[in-house]
Amino acid sequence: MRGENQLLRYSRERWRATTFFDMSFTALVLTESKAEEGKRPEVIAELRELDESELPEGDVLIAVEWSSLNYKDGMILNGLGRLVRQYPHVPGVDLAGVVLESSDDRYRVGERVAVTGWRVGEVHWGGYSQRARVRGDWLVHLPDQLSTRQAMAVGTAGFTAMQALLALEAHGLEASADNPLLVTGASGGVGSSAIQWGAARGHHIVASTGRMENADELMSLGAAEVIDRAELAENPTRPLLTERWAGCVDAVGGDTLAHVLAEMRYGASVAACGLAGGNSLPTTVIPFLLRGVNLLGIDSVQCPYPTRIRVWDEIAQALDAEKLDSMTSEVALADVASLASDILAGRVKGRTVVRCQD
Ligand code: NDP
Repeated sequence: MRGENQLLRYSRERWRATTFFDMSFTALVLTESKAEEGKRPEVIAELRELDESELPEGDVLIAVEWSSLNYKDGMILNGLGRLVRQYPHVPGVDLAGVVLESSDDRYRVGERVAVTGWRVGEVHWGGYSQRARVRGDWLVHLPDQLSTRQAMAVGTAGFTAMQALLALEAHGLEASADNPLLVTGASGGVGSSAIQWGAARGHHIVASTGRMENADELMSLGAAEVIDRAELAENPTRPLLTERWAGCVDAVGGDTLAHVLAEMRYGASVAACGLAGGNSLPTTVIPFLLRGVNLLGIDSVQCPYPTRIRVWDEIAQALDAEKLDSMTSEVALADVASLASDILAGRVKGRTVVRCQD
């Protein structure tokens, strides 16, 4: 074991020598302002120079190349949801980069890896940083077809979208022009990804959006139809409406999900991924009892390793580099905090990658 570690250290020195890496790095650090009476403390984000010795414990040190912006990052950057329990904190729920140091036999210096979920960026320090130290159990090797930038253009949102599609297919959804697959929150990260992956898998996608001006882009990602989300926004007064959907990837929740449940076809399934429209579910049991509708919960955070590998492999196969690029914007580490409120307000389109190296 010692020999192995010596080899890894040697490799690391060579890696550093050839890439000019040193032990200090830049990270976005969140701190809390002092609590004033009657006021919640504010979360302050600033770029800081840190030393590797300040990183939390872990088996694998990573030179983070790219991270991404997710809805949960918006909550964390705004200090919402009590997701972060300890400050100072480095946010960023996703990261992809290259292994610099490893005491985990599964990961070697120079390999390309990614982390999504496992409460990285939330309970553990995350990807808005040029370095991260994490547990080997949280990592995946990237499929050869994916660059680290593309992996983060996918990120948690794209991963969740594929997880949702696989769950729907496992519950009987078949790809056919006669089986409309509804995607809510279509202009967002989960929604845009679900359109792209779903269309690549042959599904007839109906995209629901509050931004009809994005309709052409949603069609070019693969949507067959685009509808105004106002059609689904109201909680229906009747528990069952006309059967419309053969499946649904829902990123919205709340009244929208209640409405969608009432419109599902007999025996069809909804994959509940998100709460962009609220975390309540004001519905009745009638769609489940009279139409055998299934409500499938999707959790990307603690998704087990074999499923993760399957999801990433399916993403690599479904990926169209040009389409992914067309729905991806790029920001520097210094600018990501300014987008936090935009993503919570549904103003961010598609996916945003965060460039971590200079
Ligand atoms: P985005 O902000 O990128 O997208 C959300 C989209 O939802 C918006 O673009 C908008 O789409 C729509 N939307 C926003 N507000 C409302 C509203 N009030 N009513 C109806 N629609 C609304 O977020 P993500 O796609 O990254 O995430 C979506 C949800 O999924 C979030 O709640 C997030 O927490 C959750 N999530 C869950 C995961 C899991 O493991 N279960 C993993 C990843 C995300 P449009 O303008 O087209 O209507």
